[in-house]
Amino acid sequence: MRILIVEDERKVSNFLRQALEEERYAVDQSFNGEDGLIFAETYEYDLVILDLMLPKMGGLNIIRELRKKGVKMPILVLTARDAIRDKVKAFDLGGDDYLTKPFSIEEFIARVRALLRRGSPGQAGILKVADLTLNPVKREAFRGLKKIELTNKEYALLEYLMRNSDRVLTRSMISEHVWNADFDTETNVIDVYITYLRNKIDKGEPHRMIQTIRGVGYMLRGEYNDHPDQTGHMV
Ligand code: CA
Repeated sequence: MRILIVEDERKVSNFLRQALEEERYAVDQSFNGEDGLIFAETYEYDLVILDLMLPKMGGLNIIRELRKKGVKMPILVLTARDAIRDKVKAFDLGGDDYLTKPFSIEEFIARVRALLRRGSPGQAGILKVADLTLNPVKREAFRGLKKIELTNKEYALLEYLMRNSDRVLTRSMISEHVWNADFDTETNVIDVYITYLRNKIDKGEPHRMIQTIRGVGYMLRGEYNDHPDQTGHMV
Protein backbone atom coordinates (compact mmCIF):
# COMPACT_ATOMS: atom_id res chain seq x y z
CA MET A 1 0.00 0.00 0.00
CA ARG A 2 1.51 3.28 -1.10
CA ILE A 3 0.37 6.66 0.15
CA LEU A 4 1.11 10.25 -0.91
CA ILE A 5 1.05 13.09 1.63
CA VAL A 6 0.59 16.58 0.17
CA GLU A 7 1.13 18.97 3.08
CA ASP A 8 3.30 22.10 3.24
CA GLU A 9 3.84 22.02 7.01
CA ARG A 10 6.88 19.79 7.23
CA LYS A 11 6.42 18.96 10.88
CA VAL A 12 2.88 17.73 10.29
CA SER A 13 3.87 15.90 7.12
CA ASN A 14 6.79 14.13 8.79
CA PHE A 15 4.66 13.18 11.76
CA LEU A 16 2.02 11.63 9.50
CA ARG A 17 4.68 9.91 7.45
CA GLN A 18 6.19 8.32 10.54
CA ALA A 19 2.80 7.11 11.75
CA LEU A 20 2.00 5.59 8.35
CA GLU A 21 5.39 3.94 8.06
CA GLU A 22 4.87 2.35 11.46
CA GLU A 23 1.75 0.83 9.90
CA ARG A 24 4.03 -0.45 7.12
CA TYR A 25 2.72 1.74 4.34
CA ALA A 26 5.14 3.12 1.75
CA VAL A 27 4.96 6.94 1.86
CA ASP A 28 5.89 9.81 -0.46
CA GLN A 29 5.70 13.49 0.50
CA SER A 30 5.03 16.64 -1.51
CA PHE A 31 5.33 20.05 0.14
CA ASN A 32 3.47 22.18 -2.39
CA GLY A 33 0.42 21.78 -4.59
CA GLU A 34 2.19 21.63 -7.94
CA ASP A 35 4.51 18.81 -6.88
CA GLY A 36 1.59 17.04 -5.25
CA LEU A 37 -0.41 17.01 -8.46
CA ILE A 38 2.57 15.74 -10.46
CA PHE A 39 3.23 12.93 -7.96
CA ALA A 40 -0.44 11.93 -7.84
CA GLU A 41 -0.62 11.80 -11.64
CA THR A 42 2.67 9.98 -12.04
CA TYR A 43 2.47 7.16 -9.51
CA GLU A 44 -0.24 4.68 -8.73
CA TYR A 45 -1.09 5.57 -5.13
CA ASP A 46 -3.58 3.66 -3.06
CA LEU A 47 -4.44 6.83 -1.13
CA VAL A 48 -3.65 10.56 -1.17
CA ILE A 49 -3.62 12.63 2.05
CA LEU A 50 -4.27 16.20 0.90
CA ASP A 51 -4.02 19.48 2.79
CA LEU A 52 -6.19 22.24 1.27
CA MET A 53 -4.10 25.34 2.01
CA LEU A 54 -0.99 24.77 -0.08
CA PRO A 55 1.54 26.99 -1.84
CA LYS A 56 1.54 27.08 -5.67
CA MET A 57 -1.74 25.16 -6.06
CA GLY A 58 -4.58 24.68 -3.58
CA GLY A 59 -5.89 21.28 -2.56
CA LEU A 60 -9.33 21.86 -4.09
CA ASN A 61 -7.74 22.51 -7.48
CA ILE A 62 -5.72 19.33 -7.14
CA ILE A 63 -8.87 17.28 -6.49
CA ARG A 64 -10.57 18.93 -9.48
CA GLU A 65 -7.62 18.22 -11.78
CA LEU A 66 -7.24 14.60 -10.68
CA ARG A 67 -10.93 13.77 -11.00
CA LYS A 68 -11.15 15.57 -14.35
CA LYS A 69 -8.37 13.30 -15.59
CA GLY A 70 -10.19 10.23 -14.30
CA VAL A 71 -7.74 9.51 -11.49
CA LYS A 72 -9.78 7.51 -9.00
CA MET A 73 -7.52 6.96 -5.98
CA PRO A 74 -9.17 7.81 -2.64
CA ILE A 75 -8.39 11.27 -1.24
CA LEU A 76 -8.39 12.12 2.46
CA VAL A 77 -8.65 15.91 2.87
CA LEU A 78 -7.09 17.76 5.81
CA THR A 79 -8.89 21.02 6.63
CA ALA A 80 -8.72 23.88 9.10
CA ARG A 81 -11.21 23.86 11.93
CA ASP A 82 -13.91 26.19 10.59
CA ALA A 83 -13.61 25.76 6.84
CA ILE A 84 -17.08 24.25 6.34
CA ARG A 85 -17.35 25.59 2.81
CA ASP A 86 -14.06 23.96 1.89
CA LYS A 87 -15.27 20.63 3.22
CA VAL A 88 -18.45 20.77 1.16
CA LYS A 89 -16.50 21.83 -1.89
CA ALA A 90 -13.96 19.04 -1.37
CA PHE A 91 -16.73 16.42 -1.36
CA ASP A 92 -18.41 18.01 -4.39
CA LEU A 93 -15.17 17.78 -6.31
CA GLY A 94 -14.55 14.14 -5.41
CA GLY A 95 -12.77 14.02 -2.07
CA ASP A 96 -13.59 10.84 -0.13
CA ASP A 97 -13.23 11.86 3.50
CA TYR A 98 -11.89 14.71 5.60
CA LEU A 99 -10.20 15.31 8.92
CA THR A 100 -10.28 18.63 10.75
CA LYS A 101 -7.00 19.84 12.20
CA PRO A 102 -5.92 19.24 14.88
CA PHE A 103 -6.73 15.53 14.87
CA SER A 104 -5.45 12.56 16.83
CA ILE A 105 -3.09 10.16 15.15
CA GLU A 106 -5.38 7.27 16.12
CA GLU A 107 -8.27 8.83 14.24
CA PHE A 108 -6.02 9.57 11.29
CA ILE A 109 -4.87 5.95 11.03
CA ALA A 110 -8.46 4.72 11.43
CA ARG A 111 -9.61 6.93 8.51
CA VAL A 112 -6.68 5.78 6.39
CA ARG A 113 -7.52 2.13 7.02
CA ALA A 114 -11.20 2.71 6.25
CA LEU A 115 -10.41 4.44 2.96
CA LEU A 116 -7.97 1.74 1.89
CA ARG A 117 -10.57 -0.90 2.71
CA ARG A 118 -13.15 0.93 0.63
CA GLY A 119 -10.66 1.05 -2.23
CA SER A 120 -10.33 -2.71 -2.37
CA PRO A 121 -13.19 -4.79 -0.99
CA GLY A 122 -12.37 -7.49 1.51
CA GLN A 123 -9.21 -5.74 2.59
CA ALA A 124 -9.95 -6.03 6.30
CA GLY A 125 -10.40 -9.76 6.10
CA ILE A 126 -7.78 -12.45 6.36
CA LEU A 127 -5.97 -13.09 3.09
CA LYS A 128 -5.68 -16.71 2.06
CA VAL A 129 -3.82 -18.18 -0.89
CA ALA A 130 -3.60 -21.99 -0.79
CA ASP A 131 -2.27 -22.79 2.72
CA LEU A 132 -0.69 -19.37 3.12
CA THR A 133 -2.68 -16.97 5.32
CA LEU A 134 -2.08 -13.39 6.32
CA ASN A 135 -3.99 -11.45 8.94
CA PRO A 136 -3.69 -7.73 8.16
CA VAL A 137 -5.03 -6.70 11.57
CA LYS A 138 -2.63 -8.83 13.62
CA ARG A 139 0.09 -8.60 10.96
CA GLU A 140 0.64 -12.35 11.16
CA ALA A 141 1.44 -14.80 8.41
CA PHE A 142 1.17 -18.59 8.45
CA ARG A 143 2.13 -21.27 5.97
CA GLY A 144 -0.11 -24.11 7.07
CA LEU A 145 0.32 -24.11 10.84
CA LYS A 146 3.83 -22.68 10.72
CA LYS A 147 4.03 -19.06 11.84
CA ILE A 148 6.22 -16.88 9.65
CA GLU A 149 8.11 -13.97 11.18
CA LEU A 150 8.39 -11.08 8.73
CA THR A 151 10.19 -7.75 8.68
CA ASN A 152 8.17 -4.69 7.64
CA LYS A 153 9.31 -4.80 4.03
CA GLU A 154 8.80 -8.55 3.74
CA TYR A 155 5.31 -8.13 5.14
CA ALA A 156 4.45 -5.36 2.67
CA LEU A 157 5.80 -7.39 -0.23
CA LEU A 158 3.94 -10.54 0.80
CA GLU A 159 0.69 -8.62 1.25
CA TYR A 160 0.98 -7.18 -2.24
CA LEU A 161 1.78 -10.60 -3.74
CA MET A 162 -1.17 -12.18 -1.93
CA ARG A 163 -3.64 -9.48 -2.95
CA ASN A 164 -2.58 -10.13 -6.54
CA SER A 165 -2.10 -13.88 -6.45
CA ASP A 166 -2.02 -15.83 -9.72
CA ARG A 167 -1.23 -12.62 -11.54
CA VAL A 168 2.14 -11.78 -13.04
CA LEU A 169 3.67 -8.78 -11.27
CA THR A 170 6.47 -6.89 -12.93
CA ARG A 171 9.33 -5.44 -10.90
CA SER A 172 8.03 -1.94 -11.59
CA MET A 173 4.54 -2.86 -10.33
CA ILE A 174 6.09 -4.26 -7.18
CA SER A 175 8.30 -1.23 -6.63
CA GLU A 176 5.38 1.16 -7.24
CA HIS A 177 3.26 -0.48 -4.56
CA VAL A 178 5.77 -1.61 -1.98
CA TRP A 179 8.56 0.95 -2.18
CA ASN A 180 8.41 4.76 -2.45
CA ALA A 181 9.68 7.22 -5.05
CA ASP A 182 13.21 7.06 -3.66
CA PHE A 183 13.38 3.50 -4.99
CA ASP A 184 16.36 2.97 -7.26
CA THR A 185 15.21 0.81 -10.17
CA GLU A 186 18.80 -0.10 -10.97
CA THR A 187 19.17 -2.14 -7.81
CA ASN A 188 18.18 -5.75 -7.31
CA VAL A 189 16.46 -5.00 -4.02
CA ILE A 190 13.20 -6.65 -5.11
CA ASP A 191 14.98 -9.89 -6.03
CA VAL A 192 16.78 -9.82 -2.69
CA TYR A 193 13.49 -9.49 -0.80
CA ILE A 194 11.88 -12.19 -2.91
CA THR A 195 14.74 -14.47 -1.84
CA TYR A 196 14.14 -13.58 1.81
CA LEU A 197 10.44 -14.37 1.42
CA ARG A 198 11.14 -17.65 -0.37
CA ASN A 199 13.39 -18.75 2.46
CA LYS A 200 10.59 -18.10 4.92
CA ILE A 201 7.62 -19.33 2.93
CA ASP A 202 8.74 -21.94 0.44
CA LYS A 203 11.79 -23.52 2.02
CA GLY A 204 11.14 -27.19 2.70
CA GLU A 205 7.64 -27.07 1.23
CA PRO A 206 6.60 -29.47 -1.56
CA HIS A 207 4.81 -26.66 -3.39
CA ARG A 208 6.79 -23.50 -4.00
CA MET A 209 4.42 -20.56 -4.17
CA ILE A 210 6.64 -17.70 -5.34
CA GLN A 211 7.30 -18.26 -9.02
CA THR A 212 9.83 -16.40 -11.14
CA ILE A 213 8.44 -15.33 -14.49
CA ARG A 214 11.67 -15.01 -16.37
CA GLY A 215 12.38 -11.55 -17.78
CA VAL A 216 9.12 -10.20 -16.39
CA GLY A 217 8.81 -10.50 -12.64
CA TYR A 218 7.11 -12.71 -10.10
CA MET A 219 3.86 -14.40 -9.31
CA LEU A 220 2.45 -15.89 -6.15
CA ARG A 221 0.82 -19.10 -7.27
CA GLY A 222 -2.05 -20.51 -5.28
CA GLU A 223 -2.87 -23.57 -7.35
CA TYR A 224 -1.22 -26.81 -6.43
CA ASN A 225 -2.22 -28.75 -9.52
CA ASP A 226 0.25 -29.56 -12.23
CA HIS A 227 -0.61 -26.65 -14.45
CA PRO A 228 2.14 -25.46 -16.72
CA ASP A 229 3.52 -22.11 -15.64
CA GLN A 230 4.23 -19.14 -17.86
CA THR A 231 7.40 -20.65 -19.21
CA GLY A 232 5.66 -23.89 -20.11
CA HIS A 233 7.26 -25.90 -17.34
CA MET A 234 5.26 -27.99 -14.94
CA VAL A 235 5.21 -26.59 -11.44
CA1 CA B 1 -1.19 24.10 4.69
